[in-house]
Order: sequence, then structure tokens, then C-alpha cells
Amino acid sequence: MLRVSGIVQGVGFRPFVYRIATKTGLKGHIRNMGGSEVEILIEGSYDSVAEFLKLLFMEKPPPARIEELEFKVVPPAGYSDFSILPSGGERHVYSMIPPDIAVCDHCLREVYDPSDRHYRYAFNSCAWCGPRFSMMMNVPYDRQNTAMVDFPLCDDCRREYEDPSNLRRFHAQGISCPQCGPSLWLEDSRGERLDVRDPLGEAAKIIDEGGIVAIKGLGGYHIACLATDDDTVSELRKRKRRREKPFALMALDLDIARLHFYLDEIAESVLTSPERPILLVPRREGSPISDLVAPGLGTVGVMLPYTPLHHMLINGTRDKILVMTSGNEHNKPMCTTIECARERLRDIADYFLHHNRRIVNRVDDSVVRFTAGRITMLRRGRGYAPAWIRLPSKLDRPIIAFGAELQTSGAVGFSDKVVLTQYIGDTDELENLEFLERMLRFFTGIYGIDPAKAVLVADMHPSYSTRKLAERWAGIYGAELELVQHHHAHITSVMSEMRITPGDKIVGVAVDGLGYGDDGTLWGGEVLVASYERYERIGHLKPQPMPGGDRASKYPVRMLIGILSTFLSESEIREILRERGLIDKLPRGEVEVDFTLRQCPRAPVISSVGRVLDSVSALLGICFERTYEGEPAMKLEAFAEGGSLIHDMSIPVKGGVVDTSELLKQILYSEESKRDLAFTSIYLLGLALGEVALRALDRADSDVVAVSGGAAVNTLLIRGMEDVLGREGVKLVLNSKVPPGDGGIALGQVAAQLGDG
Ligand SMILES: [Zn+2]
Ligand SMILES: [Zn+2]
Repeated sequence: MLRVSGIVQGVGFRPFVYRIATKTGLKGHIRNMGGSEVEILIEGSYDSVAEFLKLLFMEKPPPARIEELEFKVVPPAGYSDFSILPSGGERHVYSMIPPDIAVCDHCLREVYDPSDRHYRYAFNSCAWCGPRFSMMMNVPYDRQNTAMVDFPLCDDCRREYEDPSNLRRFHAQGISCPQCGPSLWLEDSRGERLDVRDPLGEAAKIIDEGGIVAIKGLGGYHIACLATDDDTVSELRKRKRRREKPFALMALDLDIARLHFYLDEIAESVLTSPERPILLVPRREGSPISDLVAPGLGTVGVMLPYTPLHHMLINGTRDKILVMTSGNEHNKPMCTTIECARERLRDIADYFLHHNRRIVNRVDDSVVRFTAGRITMLRRGRGYAPAWIRLPSKLDRPIIAFGAELQTSGAVGFSDKVVLTQYIGDTDELENLEFLERMLRFFTGIYGIDPAKAVLVADMHPSYSTRKLAERWAGIYGAELELVQHHHAHITSVMSEMRITPGDKIVGVAVDGLGYGDDGTLWGGEVLVASYERYERIGHLKPQPMPGGDRASKYPVRMLIGILSTFLSESEIREILRERGLIDKLPRGEVEVDFTLRQCPRAPVISSVGRVLDSVSALLGICFERTYEGEPAMKLEAFAEGGSLIHDMSIPVKGGVVDTSELLKQILYSEESKRDLAFTSIYLLGLALGEVALRALDRADSDVVAVSGGAAVNTLLIRGMEDVLGREGVKLVLNSKVPPGDGGIALGQVAAQLGDG
């Protein structure tokens, strides 16, 4: 008897095992055991079993992953054939909701084969590929629990579904064809249906002519248009009210992507993976991609098509690479219904390509990037969510975690598993908060978690709407509410990925934008010695005045004035702002400078890496307004590319406090190039935090330093830390399964409940 665990459900694993068992002449059965486990019982000769095992590994469906294999010899029961049994096992075992899987090569070949009955069929899928989570209403993954329940199988599809010799369609829950499956149509912005035979081909033509088209896809609507035409991209920016935030692109295949971007082997394997995320890659000089796609950034986000619909659409265009950005109104969640698209996207899109398969769960495209040579996640959505993450030990009670505030996600935890919701967005927007609440209800329902008996976990920040939501749930259900400090949660998220044992202490560095500290001040550049349950703040960046609070995050010149006020007089600051042309970089100019200066002495203080990088970005004339999260720091990082280290600069560290005023002072009076100054500033911040971490190591049980937080994707910052740690043979570990930013914080919030054993 075999027990196989891993990704073995929703990927055609049972029919596959049926096939190889029959082929090798074995008798017995296979059944789902709930969870991510199947049980296989086989009887037969030694040679047949050996052959079976070989095939099990060699020929398994591509999306299947075998993580563990348990082997037990049991007395023969005298089976007469091999069969697929109904799901069984203990009911308390949970079933994993499979993430969506990008279209496989076989399905793609069929849609381009005029002799195949799936020719030009935009919804072609099989056991190895296609939508899962985005169309699932319940578990297990059976057709009646998905949006495909609206499309009964036709006779041809039923025959394939029931045919054990049909490798990819036997028992495949989501299959359909042009006769029985969903269909596409094209509308104009008034909702009038266009009478065209080939809506996909027509949409491609409209795009080629400079039109902007809303496309209903897998987890929501996209907005597609030419990526090579400045006028079109700038028109899209105007209509979307999106001044600077980069747009993602979709390229037909690797050959097209290689024309525009530098791709190495790892990049190519990420782009073609079944998760098919958006990957940030450096642009080739001379690529005709418009500069307006990602202004001021050295990299562009690109993905490959993950449904036949997208593939055929892009293939029908002249460039074979398009802007493919999410179809939402400014700050609102991406549309998933036809009604939402008609109402909210009519001022953005000229035409709409709709289809009639319901999108049950909104999933945004995932975004990953390279950080100091590793792949790190910026947004965890389609392809990854809601696969569960294993904890190093079991939780005492189920947990419901509400995450942070911006670009966040929630989570539920039970047994030794954490299920993060898909990327939710900024929960200061009510609709996103409602989306979070809906998904938390969905997952607590699916995994049988009673909120009254669970521990609810929220961030300490008193004004986060997610904390208020958690408090509301605590009131409704009479459940216990735990608050976890923001940066502690960042560190415990890495600790759980590293499978640190409860009770063990580790040195963690949280490099972040902004989080609420346990002393009531704002934190964001912290060195902690932490276990899951406790932490001690060993060091941090110097707390700097943040005149005007949130407004200082939006306008970095304010933050710059705040830091300068710690070592310069008012008149000196004015002089510097005038010389560098920074006064009118504040919306109200001179008046705002006066006001900001007056706010400094009483301003809240913040020890954040993000705000220091913002100030450097403003001082060097790179970015003066944050129109999207992290913009000034990201543009600074992009600007620093190709710079080199200025050796006579250094940031003093005293008593664990990194003196960032001194950094600004050195930049002010330096004659070096702006590029080198940008490079050196980021690198030295990393170096200084690395030194503090190094000194804290003797208080920890592990000689590895965990780094997390929104700025933990900044390559130069990580290099700085890594260089100082590396000299002492100390390894630095970043998040790999969840974003180091606030999209991964819910994992840390759950992990913090592991306690200290
Ligand atoms: Zn397929
Ligand atoms: Zn059919």
C-alpha cells in the first residue's frame, strides 16, 4: 500500500494511476484521502510493482508533485481489478484547493490544430491544466463544485471523460468544448454586442489599431492595448488615472520576450512555470516597448499567456506583446463580473471581450522579481494561492489572521498548515476590506473553522481597518483576539518558512515602510532577536521626525525636511531646498515648506528604512511624489543600477542605533555623482543593519539572519547586509513562499501563535 502526498488532487493523478496500474497489470484501488494525499493499494508481481513505481515518477501529470511517499506491505486482499474509489478517509483531513494552472502545451496544440474539435477554443483545458481556485465554490474539486456546473458535458466530452485510455480527459473535472463550454462575445462601451464571427480575432484587430480592450480572463478582467505605442499607453494612463505605476505586459512566448528583455535560465523557467507569474526583468536597449509602460524603472513586468484565450488574442496582434493590466477602477478591486466591467470600465475601455463562465474567486496575477540573485515574491495571487504552507509544528487552535493594511492578504491556520488568501489589495479601501472578509469566510467555511473557537490575529496598528475588522469578529463571535507587532510578524513569516523550532531564537532584520511599534512610535528598520512568541528590539535606524505623518510618505521632500531638521537650522534647510529646486516639489511650495518646518519639533518619529530611502530619492532629485506604494525607493534603486561604492562614506552605528542623519549629511556635502550616491546610500544602510545583526547573533540559537519587510526585495540593501554577514560566514535568508512585504504578514501572524513550545 502506498500513501502519496503532495499536489495529487485536481491534477489528474487518480486517472493517471488507474492507467499505469492497468497497463502494468496490477489490481487494487486508489482513492483521495482528503488533504493532499491519495492512498494506492496494488497487488501483483514484483516486476509489475517495480514498473508501476517507475512510471509513477516518470510519467506523472506535469502539475503533480510527489512530496512524500509512504510504503507499506499489507496482506493481499484478492482484488479482481483496479478501481478508483470514492473519496474516503477520515473526515477531519482537509482538502487542498488547487491553485489555477496555466494552459498546457497539449491543450495549446489542440486549439491551433484545425483538425481537432477544440480548434480555436478559448477555454480548452484538461486534467493537467486550467482554472481551479478561480472557479471553485467548494471542495473537493469536482465539476459540480465549480463554475463549470453551468455547462453540462456534451456527448463527445462525456465519452472522453469516461474513457480510461484518454490520458488528459479521463475524469478531468473542468473539460469542455465549443459545443458545450463557455463562449466569447465582443461589446462596445455602450454594451452593444458586435455581430462578429470571431470575437477574439476582432479584439486583436481593435488593439492593433490603437484601441483599448477589456478582457475577461481567468481571475478577473484585464485591460489590453499596444505596448509599443506612446500615445496608446499614455491614453490608458489618463483613463486609468494611473500616472506612474508600471503596467504589466504579456508576451506570446519566450522568443518574443527575449526580443525585448534580458532573460537568463531561471527567468525563463519562472516565466514558463505552471504558476506563470509576472516577472520583473531588465529591458533591452532599443526594444520598442514604450517608456511609459514603467517610467523611471529599469525593469518591466512581463508574463506569458496562461489560457488559450490569452494566447490566441496575443497571437492575433502584430507585436505579439501587449500591455495587460488589471481591469479595475482606481484603487478598487479588479472586476470579475460582466456587470462590474460594463459599469466601471466603460470610461477606460473602448471594447469588451466578455465570456459567460463565472469567476467565483477573484485572483490577481502574481508578481515576482529577482532580489540579490533569488526569486522573491511581490504579490501572491494566481498560480500560488491558495496552496497551503506547512508550519514546523502544529497549532493548538485554529487561527484566523487579518493581515496588515496595504497590499495585504489574510490567512487561516489549522493543524500544521497555513492557507493565505490570494492578494487582496489596500484595505483602506472598503471594497478591498469586504473582499478580505469574504475570503476569510470562504476559507473558514471550507476548512471547517469555527471563528468562535479560533484565535483571531491582527496587527497592533490602532487605525488599521483590518484590526477593526478583527475586533468586530471578536465581538460577534466572542473569540479571542491577539495583536502581533508588525515587524515581529515579518520575521516570524521567514522563521516559519525556515522551519525554525518553536522556542528557538533567531536574529531578524525587518526593513520596511512603516509599522506600528510597541512603544507607540512608528518602526521600519528593526533588528530583533525573536522567537515565535517574543522578541527583543536590539537595534534600529535612528527615529526621525515625520512632519505631517502620512503626507510625509506621499511627499518625500517633507520627510527630507524632517531628517535635515535634526542637524541643520531652518535657514540652512531653506537654502538647500532652494539650491536643489525642491521647494516647488511640494504641492503648496514655499507655504508648505514653512508649515513643514514648524511641524518638525512635534512630529511623530519613525525608524523606517523606506522613509530614509524616500528622502535620499528626493534629495538626489529622483522622485518627489509617491503615486504608488514604494515608488521613491524603487526609483532610487533603479537609478543606482550601475553605480559604485564611494569608499569614504559610512554610516555610524552607536548602541545599536544607525545614524541616518549622518548619511544625509554626507550626501549633502559630497561631490560624487548622483548615481554613486544613490548606490552607496542603499548599500551602506544594508551594511549598517547587517553589523547590528551580526553583533546580536550571540543571543540567538541560530547563526542565520532572517530578513523580511517591504524593502527586503531591494537588491542593494540585501547585498549590503549579505556582504557584512558573509565575511563572518553568516547566511542571510529571505522569504521565498510569501512576499516579504505586507502580503506575507498573515503567515507571520499565524506563525506567531506557534508559541515557544
Ligand atoms: Zn491541458
Ligand atoms: Zn463538449
